[in-house]
Amino acid sequence: MRVKITLACTECKQRNYNMTKEKKLHPDRMETKKYCKFCKSHTMHKETK
Ligand SMILES: [Zn+2]
Repeated sequence: MRVKITLACTECKQRNYNMTKEKKLHPDRMETKKYCKFCKSHTMHKETK
């Protein structure tokens, strides 16, 4: 089952990405390194509710 999630930058808290994830593979909140245009660098992005 795929669910929609929002990824927020852990540095500036901006919500930069919308994506879907496979809930079976990632039952917990996901963290991925992505480019943040506000920080102008790659930062950790965390799934928000
Ligand atoms: Zn940021």
